[in-house]
Amino acid sequence: MLKGAFPVDSFRGMKTPFYFYDMDLLQRTLEEVRLQAGRFPGFQVHYAVKANSNPEILKVIAESGLGADCVSGGEVAAAFEAGFPAESIVFAGVGKSDEEIRLGLRLGISRFNVESEAELEVIDSLAAQAGTVAPVSIRVNPDIGAHTHANITTGLAENKFGIYHEELESVLRMVLGMKHVRFCGLHFHIGSQILDMADFVALCNRVNEITSRLKRSALPVGDLNVGGGLGINYQHPNHLSIADFKGYFETFARHLDLDPGQTVHFEPGRSVVAPCGTLISRVLYIKEGVTRQFAILDAGMTELIRPALYHAYHRIENLSSDEAEELYDVVGPICESSDVFGKGLSIDKCHRGDFMAIRSVGAYGESMSSRYNLRPLAGTLFYRK
Ligand SMILES: *Cc1c(COP(=O)(O)O)cnc(C)c1O
Repeated sequence: MLKGAFPVDSFRGMKTPFYFYDMDLLQRTLEEVRLQAGRFPGFQVHYAVKANSNPEILKVIAESGLGADCVSGGEVAAAFEAGFPAESIVFAGVGKSDEEIRLGLRLGISRFNVESEAELEVIDSLAAQAGTVAPVSIRVNPDIGAHTHANITTGLAENKFGIYHEELESVLRMVLGMKHVRFCGLHFHIGSQILDMADFVALCNRVNEITSRLKRSALPVGDLNVGGGLGINYQHPNHLSIADFKGYFETFARHLDLDPGQTVHFEPGRSVVAPCGTLISRVLYIKEGVTRQFAILDAGMTELIRPALYHAYHRIENLSSDEAEELYDVVGPICESSDVFGKGLSIDKCHRGDFMAIRSVGAYGESMSSRYNLRPLAGTLFYRK
């Protein structure tokens, strides 16, 4: 949404900060996902709920026909309540509690993505107690990323996620020997905010190596889940507001060696919801420092922690001013020196009361919010033209 297109008049009576969701953009994004994944038979998309678990957003995504990828019992329950059918819900995570596993079994979710032998044993015994058989995929740590890109951080050998690929065969034999788990496939997830398709090609090559090794040992492969991670353009939210789903799905279609009828599952989170969210805030104070000026907002790391946590960049616009740009450190009110949205940003001259838009916060914004400093949780505005 261009700066001039935000319905600023409707903001005047609202308590700031709040999350503004462009539901038309979310709808267009979901149509693009459906269109591009739909070109390849067997491609199935599960939205990664942790990116944004707002019930209204979940409902729209469930209605579009995507499945859900969850990493906690709370997310499994939220996805189910929002209307995702249990058969479309997959559940990953290195530390699933007994209670969370029981919830998944009770609802009859589609898949437990299992991350360790110890977890397998627990799932087998809880499924036995429940008199059922748990569908499981093995999450494989593909050990890639070291030579590709620094932002790929979940797929390295020293990482806590998944089963190291060299131990896969022994774990798979263990699964096949268990009575209360059913082996369904392999799961991978290499990281987040990936913009270079070469990183996904590297994943495909490793998946092909692993599946052909299993086949040589006469072991089953099942279906494939290649995780999420597709990145978005944080610099240019107005011009590149929908992620490159075409290139993404084509990359996997071209580079994965698939058997006839084999399904491929995807778990995009950020790329589905990040662009549709904007954090709307008011300027509280302009403070002249010794060497720089600060724009102090009424939003802080409690509403958007990504800049404080990862030095993430979000574009910031002043919706109330068209005056010449000046340089600002844009900061929040929280008592932490890392409560900074950006330093030395060039923004149209700011005044107390101006509406500021912090862009591309639809993913890992509201879902990572907190009540630190006893701040109230921010509200929402779901905008449809
Ligand atoms: C976080 C996560 C995702 C989603 O990642 P995005 O970068 O938001 O697309 C998908 N799968 C798993 C297992 C995850 O942990």
